Amino acid sequence: MRRGMTDATPSATDVLIVGAGIAGASLAAALAPFRRVTLIEAEDTPGYHATGRSAAFWHETYGGARVQPLSAASFATLARPAPEFSDEGFLSPRAALTIGHRTEAAAVDRFTAEFVANGVDVERITSRDIVQKIPGVRAEWSEAAYEAACSDIDVARLHAAYLRAARRAGASIATRARLESARRVGDAWDVQIGGQSIRAAVIVNAAGAWADEVAAACGVAPVGIQPYRRTVVQLRLGVPVPAELPLVIHVGGEFYFKGESEGRVWLSPHDETPVAPHDAAPEEIDVAIAIDRLQSVVDWPIAAVERKWAGLRSFASDRIPVLGADPDHGGFVWCAGQGGFGIQTAPAIAALLAAELGAPPPIGAIASVDPAPFAVSRFR
Ligand SMILES: Cc1cc2nc3c(=O)[nH]c(=O)nc-3n(C[C@H](O)[C@H](O)[C@H](O)COP(=O)(O)OP(=O)(O)OC[C@H]3O[C@@H](n4cnc5c(N)ncnc54)[C@H](O)[C@@H]3O)c2cc1C
Repeated sequence: MRRGMTDATPSATDVLIVGAGIAGASLAAALAPFRRVTLIEAEDTPGYHATGRSAAFWHETYGGARVQPLSAASFATLARPAPEFSDEGFLSPRAALTIGHRTEAAAVDRFTAEFVANGVDVERITSRDIVQKIPGVRAEWSEAAYEAACSDIDVARLHAAYLRAARRAGASIATRARLESARRVGDAWDVQIGGQSIRAAVIVNAAGAWADEVAAACGVAPVGIQPYRRTVVQLRLGVPVPAELPLVIHVGGEFYFKGESEGRVWLSPHDETPVAPHDAAPEEIDVAIAIDRLQSVVDWPIAAVERKWAGLRSFASDRIPVLGADPDHGGFVWCAGQGGFGIQTAPAIAALLAAELGAPPPIGAIASVDPAPFAVSRFR
């Protein structure tokens, strides 16, 4: 969001959403037509943390079979949004290969069978197909499953569209507004934000890596949201690898890469280093590991590391999101633990939570998602 969009924080609101990443912004957009919504963000710029650092793909199988319903249900909104939300979709075709070494054929078989059984469009392909889709792939990387629907997400435009929709529907959005503490007084919260006091019937915790800290500041028991650092590197290659190179993701979780523009790729070593919530930065060792792993898969000469960044992916212990009212703490709602799939699941998560908070029930594919597995009660 551009600077200068900050509103004055009102003195009272129905729903105070803490954190203006994709989770908070999408929920604010879904809920603002039906409730007085205030969205607060500690940083100068919404999207500064995980949301602004993603690898920007929609990959239906990413996050596993329990996350897949949220990703699948979000596809239609991302691909064909309502015209009043955006006159253009947010996806562009990419395709994905879940790839294995010749010793990993059984793992690729299991991956394919699990998702075919869930109705995902994923097919086992031959080593000849792999060579056609990844020029320069080494012969021992002979096993793969192919997903045609994998797409890039225009994350910045999506996030901006959510913020715009929220504001148009009457939400107040305040940046440099950190929730410092809150206490329940009667049937509402008395919330302290930068020396200002605001009364809110409901607090939604959409604080990403800080979700447990925000809970603690409200006197709410944590659920155990752990941030993990993930590194991404943009490489310029000495060969004209096509921009539309598919997302190539290791079946054993050791790397992924995708085309960025001709002769450039985004690469991650799939690192997952547990850390305290902070402004994450890449470590040289993770960059070196990423490059080493890439070179074991393809024969591309590397001309330069052009960019590198890191962000935090935050998970509950069972690695699925934590969504909904806290059964032990009245008026406290969780929207946390979106791990590495918080962009591609945002439309479904926002619609499900908004319905719990006073918006109409979800429609279309999202209506058939069962929210029960994500309930906070599993930690209480
Ligand atoms: C390297 C990387 C690659 C990824 N790739 C993908 C991908 O390809 N596809 C995909 O779907 N997902 C991807 N993800 C995951 C995705 O980015 C996250 O799941 C998603 O951005 C989480 O959104 P969020 O709004 O919960 O968190 P955030 O974007 O981190 O937002 C939380 C916000 O809360 C604010 N906050 C914290 N405490 C307070 C407070 N006390 N008061 C006010 N505000 C506060 C923070 O400042 C922050 O801005 C990736 C993540 C990383 C790190």
